[in-house]
Amino acid sequence: ESPIQRKPDWIRVKAPGSPAWRETNQIVKEHGLVTVCEEAGCPNIGECWSKKHATFMIMGDTCTRACAFCNVRTGLPDALDAEEPRKVADAVAKLGLEHVVITSVDRDDLADGGARHFADTIEAIRRAAPATTIEILTPDFLRKPGALEVVVEARPDVFNHNLETVPSKYLTVRPGARYFHSIRLLQRVKELDPSMFTKSGIMVGLGEERNEVLQLMDDLRSADVDFLTIGQYLQPTRRHHAVMKFVTPEEFKGYEAIAYTKGFLLVSSTPLTRSSYHAGEDFARLRSA
Ligand code: SF4
Ligand code: SF4
Repeated sequence: ESPIQRKPDWIRVKAPGSPAWRETNQIVKEHGLVTVCEEAGCPNIGECWSKKHATFMIMGDTCTRACAFCNVRTGLPDALDAEEPRKVADAVAKLGLEHVVITSVDRDDLADGGARHFADTIEAIRRAAPATTIEILTPDFLRKPGALEVVVEARPDVFNHNLETVPSKYLTVRPGARYFHSIRLLQRVKELDPSMFTKSGIMVGLGEERNEVLQLMDDLRSADVDFLTIGQYLQPTRRHHAVMKFVTPEEFKGYEAIAYTKGFLLVSSTPLTRSSYHAGEDFARLRSA
């Protein structure tokens, strides 16, 4: 297979600039926060920010890992900002969010991988915005014993950890991570707190085979994972992993249908699906059903 340069018509995005978008932007900037929406160059930023939906990235903008699909800079991160949980919570309250997604860079440099900071952020949001549902998208806490337990004890509503791709692509796409460690992490969340929703996601178009995606769904279901997201990989810059395929909207629909038959409670599978895309709306729908 060879890389593909031109984007198909179905990768169309709404330009930013509505009044609600500007307000979101202003609150984010005022609080000095980092968002995945910006760091990842997410194509949905116009739509999401217009609906006041943003994904906050805590623990800095520098990551100790270097995944081949990711636009976040790699290096030795700064010390944690002890004020950050409060700043994030303030912004969540000001934006009046129904649902918030909190994620982070990998902090292999910290003894607990940043678990305490995650927990502090969840607790600060609960105090500032008790009605907001909280979804966290965490690193894999590889070689950080006890870290996962600290985060689960803070009781987020949804615990998300992305597999990102099928196991055969880990060495080239997600070096430093271990597929079965990530599956096990998700399974462990459910064991610790069966009432917590678990979620994972992948990008397609990295050269994976369809049957590998179906096997991955089975692996997630055997770990009792509830929600699944599947989206098209887009190359952030030419230095990043090439796009090997643009999966068609019909193929995405096919994945969605199969995932539901395998027992996932919520599935989002479209070209522009991202881990946090429509996360709030989908979760609200599920809770009121
Ligand atoms: Fe931000 Fe997620 Fe929306 Fe992208 S899909 S703009 S990362 S909230
Ligand atoms: Fe990007 Fe996360 Fe990989 Fe760090 S661990 S490079 S933030 S995808």
